[in-house]
Amino acid sequence: LEIKIGWKKYTVVELDIDDSLIVGGDACYGKIDYVSSIIYLNSANTPSQSKSTLLHEVIHGVEDMYGVELSEEQVTTVANGLYAFMLDNKDLVRDLICE
Ligand SMILES: [Zn+2]
Repeated sequence: LEIKIGWKKYTVVELDIDDSLIVGGDACYGKIDYVSSIIYLNSANTPSQSKSTLLHEVIHGVEDMYGVELSEEQVTTVANGLYAFMLDNKDLVRDLICE
């Protein structure tokens, strides 16, 4: 899967838990590598965990692309709020993305 954030293309890769998904002793749901333009999703995620994690990593990608800096907690809150909004307004979201 390839996604675009601004002008930058990211490859989305599922990854079994290994050192690259361990941060501070905890396994992460995902992570973003700005240098190699790869978003990693933990293959142990449930489908809905993967979707919300992808959105979380996309917000990090937006931070990087547009030069804003949010705390990890702010990214999590915005991603969760946006994900809930999208689930609660599927018709609107469909309208927004259909040309
Ligand atoms: Zn994060």
